Amino acid sequence: MVGEVRPGTEAPNTHSERNKGVGNGLSTPSPFSVYAIRAQFPVLHRAMHGKPLIYLDNAASTQKPQVVIDTLVRFYSTTYSNVHRGAYALSEEATARYEEARQIVARFLGARSWREIVFVRGATEGINLLAFSLGEYFLREGDTVVVTEMEHHSNLVPWQMACARKGAHLRVVPLREDGDLDLDQLETLLAQKPKILAVTHVSNSLGTVNPIRQIVEIAHAYGVVVVVDGAQAVAHVPVNVQELDCDFYVFSGHKIYGPTGIGVVYGKEEWLDRLPPYQGGGEMIREVTFEKTTYNDIPYRFEAGTPNIVDAVGLGAALQFVELTGREQIFRHEDQLIKELEKGLRAIQGVRVLGAPQKRVAAISFVVEGVHAHDIGTGLDLHGICVRTGHHCTQPVMRFYGVPATVRPSLAMYNTREEIERFLAALEEVIAFFRRGSA
Ligand SMILES: *Cc1c(COP(=O)(O)O)cnc(C)c1O
Repeated sequence: MVGEVRPGTEAPNTHSERNKGVGNGLSTPSPFSVYAIRAQFPVLHRAMHGKPLIYLDNAASTQKPQVVIDTLVRFYSTTYSNVHRGAYALSEEATARYEEARQIVARFLGARSWREIVFVRGATEGINLLAFSLGEYFLREGDTVVVTEMEHHSNLVPWQMACARKGAHLRVVPLREDGDLDLDQLETLLAQKPKILAVTHVSNSLGTVNPIRQIVEIAHAYGVVVVVDGAQAVAHVPVNVQELDCDFYVFSGHKIYGPTGIGVVYGKEEWLDRLPPYQGGGEMIREVTFEKTTYNDIPYRFEAGTPNIVDAVGLGAALQFVELTGREQIFRHEDQLIKELEKGLRAIQGVRVLGAPQKRVAAISFVVEGVHAHDIGTGLDLHGICVRTGHHCTQPVMRFYGVPATVRPSLAMYNTREEIERFLAALEEVIAFFRRGSA
């Protein structure tokens, strides 16, 4: 996995910088070198407004390594055809690659079987699928669905819609000032035996890591089905669905170095087996007559129509890339960076960091006294720095903290300590500029 480090912008400046790499390289496939990793992401080598590009919007989407880009091009160039249909060898090859990608996802998540892996367009579609199918399966008038105050709109609106269809109620686990969930309130709500708990593994606006293992245990004690939104977690914390024991786990490929337009629903086999399909069409049927249609086995029952074959294969390449780089080493590296970033932010006058959760990964939200978040974002862009500003599809979180919008830098495996330092310096300049402007 160690690529060539390009001279100039990417090479470490000093010997000591070079030695700041994490890990001893013994317990993982290759030594972790952030500069070797960067060399594999072509877009990181471009400039923006005459400055080296600093990409800190990874919670919105991640950049793609060359191996993923090459996999897509090569598949279209050599192996492409529709899957599960052809009597011909090319289709068999394409099908084998598509199904191999499913196996890779199953291994990556620690699923028991490839049958527990459904390909969808992304986390949003995955949650809509579950809200619909679980809703049809067992939501009745007067039932309850529990979500939390830190959910992405994608893990909130589909449940609201399911509740509206079925006459069920939505209840919300409150956030605490420190950015952690109120677990006492969570238990109180679960004790009332709702049908479903939908909860995020990691908050995309605050970076909070929720204790999913513990939450699932409490939920199961009350017979509550747990859907975990893993969109923000899967690239930044260890995920093993059997250890977590969640019933469903959903994520998007594009937030873990894979293509857009591909995502995954993991569901325990006994659950998927019971659920009615989400969409009707080709692929998902066994036999069709005008009177009656019988459905295919899982996972195909949930994959109506021609699937996103190529991007599934690309997602497989992305997950293998992450595995080869070493998940533990990536997470350790990101952990050091987020701590430095938080420390630096807290040291800047007028910056208010939202929350101080027990465990934070990869993303942090802040506001600046007297300067609008969007102005900070525009100012940083002129320094070549990409950050997200706004509500991050979590308006309830913004309302909780009484702010309209935040600035949210977010990290990936390829970010460096030097980038954090440059970000902090640029932020101070931008703040000073707007302060002078308003004085
Ligand atoms: C990004 C994100 C989603 C939505 O993912 P899409 O790829 O836009 O479907 C849902 N939940 C969380 C926590 C996210 O970060």
